[in-house]
Amino acid sequence: MRKILPTVEALVAGILAGNRVLLAQAITLVESTRPEHIALAQEVIGQLAAQQEPAKPTLRIGITGAPGSGKSTFIEALGMHLVENGHKVAVLAIDPSSSLRHGSILGDKTRMERLSAQDRAFIRPSPAGDALGGVARKTRETIFLVEAAGYDTILIETVGVGQSEIAVHSMTDLFLLLLLPGAGDELQGIKRGIVEMADLLVVNKADGDRVPLANQARMHYLNALHLFPAKTSTWIPQVLPCSAQSGEGILKIWETIMLYAEHTRQNGFFDENRSQQALFWLKETLQAALMHQFYTHPAVKNLLQQLEPNVVAGKVSPFAAAEAILKVWDK
Ligand code: GDP
Repeated sequence: MRKILPTVEALVAGILAGNRVLLAQAITLVESTRPEHIALAQEVIGQLAAQQEPAKPTLRIGITGAPGSGKSTFIEALGMHLVENGHKVAVLAIDPSSSLRHGSILGDKTRMERLSAQDRAFIRPSPAGDALGGVARKTRETIFLVEAAGYDTILIETVGVGQSEIAVHSMTDLFLLLLLPGAGDELQGIKRGIVEMADLLVVNKADGDRVPLANQARMHYLNALHLFPAKTSTWIPQVLPCSAQSGEGILKIWETIMLYAEHTRQNGFFDENRSQQALFWLKETLQAALMHQFYTHPAVKNLLQQLEPNVVAGKVSPFAAAEAILKVWDK
């Protein structure tokens, strides 16, 4: 960032007033790797946390699906439905490969054209980074910022092929999996564990001559869901058809999401899940900070470099080496 940094006070006041420019600047600070930016971002987050009245209810929805399943089309359709009904919608993404790959998710400016033109929508591409943990942590902080700025529905997109789903799952209230008509999950490259995590399965592109195939897929998944263990939330996952392109089915999907929110708020799972997630992120953040401190400690770096070849050659046991290195860190 070459520009002069805004002050903490300006950022906090701007975010609370829903100023999109200052919100975007604060997110850029969160995403930065420069220590002074990170410190400023933490100051802003700390002050916002202290100033916020009892937090307004928000809903964080994770959305995943194989590339081409229609995630951005779906997010645009759902997002438009929401802004038209008075919601403020933030769209975020977790894509650890985004810095390595051209045309990453949400990186393409032509996506979600209608939604991005809305005052009540805020769209932010995935933070860059090749380590999932770091990318996910930044997204978790960004959720905090967009909620402080008054966005009540947060849609977090990820590509349904890897570990990112687990990260998204650890920061959302509901997990939605987008599927294609006809093909089973193996064929779509979706891992069984991801199907198992989903609270809502949506068979997209249920339009034109794909309608029968979409129905088949729906039956297939309804049957498959019976084989999974019951969810802690006690919610029974639903499988719904939809055409993100025409908008058919979007209303029913939103109604089902509302039913889920009501169900889990009533039985206490919603709050309990958020508390557990907060603890998870506390530990994750501590772990990452400790690792960083450890591996950048000069004596540790030095001794590690010295001992590595000996461990590789079998001259020193890995355990003895670890103990020796931990000792120099202690000092
Ligand atoms: P993503 O890679 O999962 O984000 O998928 P996109 O939203 O970019 O959609 C991939 C392709 O599928 C695009 O050409 C879309 O126009 C098309 N598509 C998305 N949703 C639908 C739908 O509901 N019906 C039909 N027929 N096509 C769709």
